[in-house]
Amino acid sequence: MNNSARTYSVTDAACGSSSSYLWRSFIWGRDIITAGYRWCIGDGSSVRVYDDQWIPWPSTFKVISPTSLGTMTTVADLKLFSGAWNEELIRNSFLPDDASLILSIPCSSGNLSDKMIWHYDKLGSYSVKSGYYIGLSLGTNPSPLGLNQAESWWKFLWRLKVPAKVKLLLWRACHNWVPSNDNLARRGVRVENACPICKRWHETTLHAMWCCPSLKSIRSMCPFMRSIKLADGMSFLDFMVACKKQIIVADMELLAMTIWRIWYRRNYMLHNVPTIIDDEMALWVTSFLTDFRQAKAAIATGIGISSTDVAAWCPPES
Ligand SMILES: [Zn+2]
Repeated sequence: MNNSARTYSVTDAACGSSSSYLWRSFIWGRDIITAGYRWCIGDGSSVRVYDDQWIPWPSTFKVISPTSLGTMTTVADLKLFSGAWNEELIRNSFLPDDASLILSIPCSSGNLSDKMIWHYDKLGSYSVKSGYYIGLSLGTNPSPLGLNQAESWWKFLWRLKVPAKVKLLLWRACHNWVPSNDNLARRGVRVENACPICKRWHETTLHAMWCCPSLKSIRSMCPFMRSIKLADGMSFLDFMVACKKQIIVADMELLAMTIWRIWYRRNYMLHNVPTIIDDEMALWVTSFLTDFRQAKAAIATGIGISSTDVAAWCPPES
């Protein structure tokens, strides 16, 4: 068996408990992005048969067959000297579905290198549109929300009159794509999953964004939230959908802005950066939204302000 030399890429990088916050965030983003990448097979020498993403079929792009060959076997080992697939070896070593998919991959002539491509684009390049859809399909939220309800929520979110950065944070939070300690621990990063502020509960997305006991005074500034009941195991998406059902749009915009500010409060506190005191949160949120709306109105009437001064939000293409 030919154990070809292999260059390890960034996708092999691990994350230790002493890793910096930026590095952990990078690993976090990488986990999302790499979910849509797979190897395009050239000579096969760079690609591990069992560990790498190379089967041209979503969503894992990995073989599902048991490891009957050595764990270090590369795709090049499945080829004959001529570069053609070793069909007999493949059919004897893999389950029929895997074998068919492997044999459907064109064999390159010569010594073309293997390369990483974005599976969801004809040219192999990442695009926001395809990233958006792979993102939706990768949501880790265990909520039993139906597609209609989920779609209705996303459309509602895109229409909120709050800055684009606020919608993006909520969008990521609904997918559990914010680097809270519990989310990081679930992704295999060696961190304590406890909340770094109250140190009492797992820092889930919902805990970090709303439920942490340290946020009690901020929550009390949102009287429109009194009717919202929290349930055990509720995800952040469940929470948002429940809020959408029970409070008016203007209050949803206040809530979105408050949650955005709460997340930054958490990060500032983590890094000992001074931030506004909690008692001033409601005032800050209200005046920020007022300024934002006035700026939008000024743009709409074409007076007083440059269009570059206010973030514009374009929903992902459908
Ligand atoms: Zn907490």
